[in-house]
Amino acid sequence: MWATRNGTAGGRMDEAQHIDEAQGIDIVDVRYAYGAKPALADVSMALRPGRFTALLGPNGAGKSTLVSLLSGLFVPQGGRISIFGLDLAKDPLAALSVMGIVFQQQTLDLDLSVRQNMAYFAALHGLAGRRAGQRIEACLTRLGLAARQKEKVRALNSGHRRRLEIARSLVHEPRFLLLDEPTVGLDVPARADLVAHVHALCRDDGLTVLWATHLVDEVEAGDDLVVLHDGTVRAQGAVADVLASTGAHDVLGAFHRLTTPAPAEPAP
Ligand code: ADP
Repeated sequence: MWATRNGTAGGRMDEAQHIDEAQGIDIVDVRYAYGAKPALADVSMALRPGRFTALLGPNGAGKSTLVSLLSGLFVPQGGRISIFGLDLAKDPLAALSVMGIVFQQQTLDLDLSVRQNMAYFAALHGLAGRRAGQRIEACLTRLGLAARQKEKVRALNSGHRRRLEIARSLVHEPRFLLLDEPTVGLDVPARADLVAHVHALCRDDGLTVLWATHLVDEVEAGDDLVVLHDGTVRAQGAVADVLASTGAHDVLGAFHRLTTPAPAEPAP
């Protein structure tokens, strides 16, 4: 059962994959530009193990670019990324094997059943037979979809499709879950449902989560927060610390202070 792997948040050493969860996720001076256009400029952040970190930034801040770098789709043009002590550039397969990724665009096959979508992904991760069946059952149960496994994905509403993508991303028992604006296109109740499910994964199973969003109401008081704007980190830390450092009363206020340009000085 996958829950048996959780260990204490931040404390598990996994000999097989040589990961040390206590080291969390370390992003150091990472740079990336599309041609001459910089998208990330010397971005550094440390994600604490077993914590839900919201990566909050307006459109164009660089969130998807960072997700592409973390998931190995793009290679940083400077800096380094370390996943639980593994250098992503030097040991990409081992680093990626402990990551679950949910991209912004949905990638389910609508004409396959819920279970078939899971089984396909399990096979991609080298899981077969009884073990695959156990993992599929556990992940679907965890995301509240076990009763719907025979239905075609086309029959699911958008919120349940997103939950299925999260269930699928967990099939190989990752310890770091990376989600790029997973609530895009969902209505308010479905958004709240998804946010609650992922917070529960973090709280109950000790998963380290990076949740990219431009929506301040998806950030909870107990989360960690990184505010990204114009390709640079404007603030990071526990939500309470970011509020204290900005003098704001809530995340919306902090977000505005950190992302709104200061008014121009009046001409002399
Ligand atoms: P976010 O996910 O926060 O909306 P992105 O990472 O998508 O931000 O984009 C960061 C910056 O990089 C933006 O200015 C965007 O226009 C630019 N950008 C993103 N993808 C490309 C691309 N394929 N080619 C050129 N510029 C891009």
